[in-house]
Formats: sequence, C-alpha cells, structure tokens
Amino acid sequence: MNPNQPFDRLARRIEQFRDEMVDLQVRLCAIPAIAPSSGGEGEAKKADFLVDFLKAGGFVDVTLIKAPDLDAPAGYRPNILAYCRGKSSARTIWVMTHTDIVPPGELSLWHGHPYKAWVEKGRVYGRGVEDNQQDMVASLYAVKAHQAEGILPNYDIGIALVADEETGSRKGIDYVIQNYKAFRKQDLIIVPDAGNAAGTMIEVAEKSILWLKIKTLGKQAHGSTPEKGINSFKAASFFIAALNELYKIYPGRDKLFDPPISTFEPTKKEANVPNINTIPGEDVFYMDSRILPKVKVQDVEKSIRMIAADIEKKFKVKIHSEIQQRATAAPPTPVQAPVVQALKKAVKAVYKKEAKPMGIGGGTVAAVFRRAGFSAACWSKLDETAHQPNEYCIIDNMVGDAKVYGHIFLQE
Ligand SMILES: [Zn+2]
Repeated sequence: MNPNQPFDRLARRIEQFRDEMVDLQVRLCAIPAIAPSSGGEGEAKKADFLVDFLKAGGFVDVTLIKAPDLDAPAGYRPNILAYCRGKSSARTIWVMTHTDIVPPGELSLWHGHPYKAWVEKGRVYGRGVEDNQQDMVASLYAVKAHQAEGILPNYDIGIALVADEETGSRKGIDYVIQNYKAFRKQDLIIVPDAGNAAGTMIEVAEKSILWLKIKTLGKQAHGSTPEKGINSFKAASFFIAALNELYKIYPGRDKLFDPPISTFEPTKKEANVPNINTIPGEDVFYMDSRILPKVKVQDVEKSIRMIAADIEKKFKVKIHSEIQQRATAAPPTPVQAPVVQALKKAVKAVYKKEAKPMGIGGGTVAAVFRRAGFSAACWSKLDETAHQPNEYCIIDNMVGDAKVYGHIFLQE
C-alpha cells in the first residue's frame, strides 16, 4: 500500500467522511418519500434537499427533471441528474439510486421510529437507509472524496437520483431515458439496488416472469354421485401434474443463473367448496414461471395451452388462464462489459473478494436501462433488509461501497 496512490488517498478521505455520511442518512430518513399510489406525497421535498446538497457540494449541471404526476401534491415526480466533470467526457460513469421509499408497514414491529434514524452497533436503522440511501450516500461521498483530494477523475461522473422505483419507474428512470439524452452506449451504469451480504453478486441478467391464474370449470355435484358432475379439482390436479412436462420441453441451462434452468411451478391455490361431500365445479390455482432469457415467453404460453387442451378433452372441463404478470427479460448485460469488469476490480481492491456476474429470477430497475440498449449492472454489499421492519444499513458497507465507487471513478 502506497499512501500517496490516488485510491489510497480516496479511501482514507472516505473513512474521514464516515460520521458525515451517517448524518446524511439521518437527514434523508427524516424526509419520507412515498409514492402517491402508496399513500405518500412523492419525492419532491427529498429531491429539493438533495438538489441543495449537490449544488453546495460542487456538483455541476444539476438538473431537476419533473415527470408530471397530478396525484402528487407537487404535481410532479422529481428526478435529478448531476455531474462531476473528469478529464474526458468521452464516457460517463453513472451511479443511479432511487429516492423513493416504501411505507414502514406495521409500526409496532419497529424498535424505533422509522423516520428518526438511529445508530446501533455499527448500523443505521430507519426506512430507506438500505434501500436505496446506503449507496446513494456512498456514491455522493465517493465524488466528494475526489474533490476533497483534488483528484480529477479520468471521465465524467454522473449521479442519477430517481423517483418512482418502488412503483414501476414510469415517472422515474423510464421518464428520464425517454425524455433526456443523458445516457450513452459507452457509459458505465451502476445500479446499486440489488446485492448480497458478501458483496460478491454483480447482477447482469434476469429471467422472464410469467404468472398465470388458471381456472378449471367442471360441474358441481353431490359427493356421492360424481358421475353426475365433472370434478374440476381432479382435472386441475392432472393438469398440474402434466404441466411438469414444461421442464422437459424447455430443458435449457444457463450457468449465469442459480438455479440454471427455467422453472414452472404451481403456487397459490384458492379454496373451492367449503364441505367434503360436494364435487367441486370450479377450481383456481396459480402458476409462477421464471423463464431463461433465450426461451420465448410466447412459446411457453403455447405449450401451456396445448397441455390444457389435452386435459379439457380428457376430462370435459374448460380451462381459462389469465395473465397476472408477464415481463419479458431484458437483454443481459455482457459479462465482458466494462461496467462488470470495473466492478470486479473494485470489489477485489476494497473487499478482497471475487465478485461474480450473475442472473436472478426477478426483475430489477436495471432492466429499464438494458431494454433501452445500455449496459447496466446491479451491485451492492447489503443484508437485504429492504422493505422489512427495522431496515438497516451496515455503516461499514456504506463506507466500503463508497470506496468501490471511488475505485471505479479512477479507472483508466
Ligand atoms: Zn430499491
């Protein structure tokens, strides 16, 4: 370790910012930013606070982008872009975090007030401190450390603080991408809104999601005379067993994912008749499929319809399926993409660990970037306490993640 190397200077400076970072967490927590559709006022007040913070902190070209929203008292949902200029503007290294939080939920489960953040045993507790303030604060202080040390980064650094992540991103990053040409193909885009406790997961891909509600219609009858009815529950049970064939029809593997296969699982089951001696005429169950990106969702839907037709014929039932959610996976970010390589190197330098590009079963907000053709990667070191009571941020993670960003901002 050479104490005069830029990275070591940055790391030392970030350590000195530790208390200030915790203080910013407490101040952000005191301005709850809940979406109107979740019963809140939106992010306007928190965004105003952040704009002031950025301007006072020497960030340049601070832009407040207002996505119109008549349900919010302010009339808009705020998105902020800010820069720290580097030696070259050939590319921008972005960190995007979201300002909105989810409601605290059952208050009696909290050990303190969700909006009065408190510190205990190296952790900050409060709603939003992990999701997504941990890395918001980390990214801001990584920039401040550059400024304090007088280090000019090689490329521009972009900070994006967006609204509406928790309720679909339409007034958030979606709106920004559609209305502003801020992002470019050659930019590195880091979205620290997913991760693991070791800090070793770089999320680069996701599976498609298909959720179906499946209703099987037969004919109700007395339990003693099944021949006078059509047992919908029995037919549905054979259908569920037959649906397991999907695993054989789509056997593809992709080792980026854990599990490395597409999954097709019956999950929720609605109650049918309340008594034992009635043959049920209607049955409802649900299915959750997570489909590898190279398999077409339409093909899976077609296979399900074919299996259903077979059951309809055999049991003389009618099967209706209704889509509850259908999200086609965004194209994955290549494992070789500069953003992935930069994250790997930085995690190694700061946490002494090998981070691995991975795919996950559900969607993240990075998919919005990927669909728009940008290489984005999700990464953070966190315990995944998001949306839980007593959500916390490990202060060492916040400080460590700031060093990771500091390392990435220095890259050649
Ligand atoms: Zn989040």
